Amino acid sequence: MRNRNECHQLTTAIVRKYQKIAVEKLAIQNMSRKGGSRKRGLNRSMMEQTWGVLFQQLRYKAEWAGRQFIEVDPSNTSKTCSRCDEVRKEKLADYRTFVCPSCGHTEDRDVNAAKNIQERGWEYPAQPKAG
Ligand SMILES: [Zn+2]
Repeated sequence: MRNRNECHQLTTAIVRKYQKIAVEKLAIQNMSRKGGSRKRGLNRSMMEQTWGVLFQQLRYKAEWAGRQFIEVDPSNTSKTCSRCDEVRKEKLADYRTFVCPSCGHTEDRDVNAAKNIQERGWEYPAQPKAG
């Protein structure tokens, strides 16, 4: 995402297309903490801020359009096999591909995580219709 306008286009497209929108609940760190200028920490918080803006837009557009916006438990979404629910124990920082030790399911790590988020979103009950 390069700019704010692009963010708006993306969130509008998502809200037009989907009735139910599930995202990972963000654990946003305190952005203004002292000593937070270490490069890695700074980059991380900028990433989180971008996601924060995106999710905020998604939330208000979804609510305005009568869509359901769901924040799911983020624990292990990138470590859980989207096919068999096996949770990998190893650290994941070094590779981009998820390989399940149990069923052999192999998939892009982010795609696998997105499927887990979607599945958790489906478990939420549908919003009661207004009126
Ligand atoms: Zn598996």
